[in-house]
Formats: sequence, structure tokens, C-alpha cells
Amino acid sequence: MDSVYLDNAATTPLTPEVREAMLAFLGEDFGNPSSRHPLGVRAREAVDEARRRLGHALGARPEDVLFTSGGTEANNLGLIGAARQLSGRRRRILIGATEHPCVRASAKALAAEGFQVEQLALDERGELDLEDLDARLSEDVAVVAVMLANNEFGSVYPIRELARRARRKAPGAHVHVDAVQAFGKLDVQLDELECSSLAISGHKVHGPKGIGVLALAEGVRVAPLLHGGGQERELRPGTENVPGIVGLGTAAQLCVEHLDETIEHARQARAILASGLTRIQGARFIEPGARVLDAIASIYVPGVPAEVRMHHLEQRGVYVSAGSACQAAKPDLSPALLASGLSPEEARRVLRISFSRLVPLADVERATQVLVEVSRELEEVAS
Ligand code: PLP
Repeated sequence: MDSVYLDNAATTPLTPEVREAMLAFLGEDFGNPSSRHPLGVRAREAVDEARRRLGHALGARPEDVLFTSGGTEANNLGLIGAARQLSGRRRRILIGATEHPCVRASAKALAAEGFQVEQLALDERGELDLEDLDARLSEDVAVVAVMLANNEFGSVYPIRELARRARRKAPGAHVHVDAVQAFGKLDVQLDELECSSLAISGHKVHGPKGIGVLALAEGVRVAPLLHGGGQERELRPGTENVPGIVGLGTAAQLCVEHLDETIEHARQARAILASGLTRIQGARFIEPGARVLDAIASIYVPGVPAEVRMHHLEQRGVYVSAGSACQAAKPDLSPALLASGLSPEEARRVLRISFSRLVPLADVERATQVLVEVSRELEEVAS
């Protein structure tokens, strides 16, 4: 059978529209946006148009959209850049319990600079513990960084509530949001979330790899991590990745246009998977907190470790992941799953199945059937 790609939280293929939009800028329109001749002007206009599209898609002013080399850099700039900008009296950094490694590692880098890093607690349901948050918020907090949607199990955290509490109890603190997994699957508007900055990444939304955005709220400053020419308001210098920016601009516009369809597709895909899970002994969704994205289905299946089940699925052409792609290089157990209340034994048996509106529901049905069959076979071998 043809393969079914259900690892869209790891990365997504380019849509034809995105590829088409990029092609000219990989060919004849190779100009540097800083050049004054027509080739440069065309590149500048294309970058400006992409910036407008991203501003519209993210609820930010176009001039507050900074292009970066991806979600990792956008999170580094949002966290480290903001902390350095505010340092002085403010020495504390609060991060979510299930953050992506790039946020955790940025916080670690800040700890090495003398900041005090604290992890926010989750309650017994795996929801952000607002009492713990309140207890930690005070005027010496520089940055609070919590993701909008988790990359391993799709939990959506209450960012606007967090931002409001931060404004009350830690006025002037920077609230940074990693929206890499949420963008394209939820309506992600920086102004409605009331945060200071948010990060997205091109390759999670059918855009190119190696391009992302840090969007800033009006008036918010971050200290640049790179030093060079004056590009991106001097906050992220370096000659612009024009094809990547154009591709992300197109992908972002498509995200906005297809949001309702994407949400409905994910709802139906998850329902198909849910009906398959009822046919696998002991299988269940991992759904920490009050709300999860339908597009990221994390499932616990007893028996062999997820890695083994994943390889069996792959042999039948179904591509999913055991833990997030970023963790795959390091075989340790997912800190996010453990923080959300799973035991190590359970965490080892969690598969992530992630959808995209471009995967037909009939393929989701086929893949679910394969999961049921593989699980039955593995059970038989074990018994
Ligand atoms: N944040 C989250 C939640 C992610 O899932 C990822 C990618 O896996 C990133 C950040 C990093 O983005 P990028 O791959 O563009 O560096």
C-alpha cells in the first residue's frame, strides 16, 4: 500500500502553492532585499508582503514580525532576548513544565548567565496550576515562557489567563509563547492572547524548513542574539532568507484560509482513531489538562515499547512517531509525559499520531486499521 504519513507534528510537506511561490526566489528573483536595483526591490516587496501576511495571521503589526531561522531560534530570541533586555532587578525566569527542548535549553543558558529558572507546576489533571503560577509571580520575574500547545500530546494551555495574571502580579514581565504547534491548528492571535511575543515555525504548517517568526507585541523590545547589518530592525540581522520568507508567507495565508477545514478534519481524524482504539486492548488517548488539539493524538498502548510498535507500523507504510522527533535523537523518556503524570512504564509506550488536512480521512481509516492489526499480532506473539 502507499504510505500514510501521520507524523505532521514532526514536519509537514510543502503544499504546491508554497512551492510555486518559492520557486521564483530560488531562481531568477535571487536579489538581496537590501539592493536598490530592480532585483533587490522585487525581493524587498516579496519580504514585505510576507510580513504583512504574517502580521495578519498572528494578530501583530507587520513591523513587529521578525523572521528567524525557525522555531528554535524564535524561542531563543523570545526567551533569552527578552531576559537580557529586562535584566537588572529582574532575575527570575518561569517556564512551563512541558516545554520543547529549545525553550528548556534557552532557560538553561540563562541560568548559566545568573538567572534563576523555575518550572511552573501542573495540577493533577496535567493543567497549568494557576495557584502555583500566582505564588511565583512577583516583580523580579523577567520572563514567563509557556507553550500554547504541546508538541507531544497537544495540550492547550491557558495563555491569556497566564498573561493577565502576569500583568497583575509581575507588571513589566515578558510573556513569551511557543505557538509552533498551535499555529495553523488554532486561531493564534498575539493581541488576543495578550502576550509579549510568540514563536512559530514554517515547516510545521506546510511551509519550508529553516524559517520561523518571532512576533512581538507593540512596544516590546528584545535584545538581539546576533549582531550584524540592520535587517529585521537590527533585532535579527543577516541577509533575509527570501525563498523561505515567501514560502512561510504563503503557508501562513493558507493556514488562515483553511483553519475551519483543518479543525474539522482533525476532529474527524481523531474520531476515526478513537474508534480503532476501542478495538485494541487497554489502549487510550493521553490527554492531559482541560483541552487538547485534535490534530496531535498521543496514545498509550500496553505491551511492547512504542518504538517497536512504530517500526511494525512503518513496515506496513504507516509513519508515526514514538515520542517527539526532537527527542528521538535522545532515547531518554519524555520529561513532558512524565511531568503530565505518566509513569516511566507508560511513557515508554506512547505513540504520537499527528494529522494534517492534506492527509485524506480514508488514509486515516487505513492507518487505523493497520494499527489495530499490528497491535493484535503483537498481542498474539506476547501471549
Ligand atoms: N517548539 C515546538 C513546540 C516544536 O514542536 C518545535 C519543533 O519540533 C520547535 C519549537 C522547534 O521548531 P524548529 O524545528 O522550526 O526549530
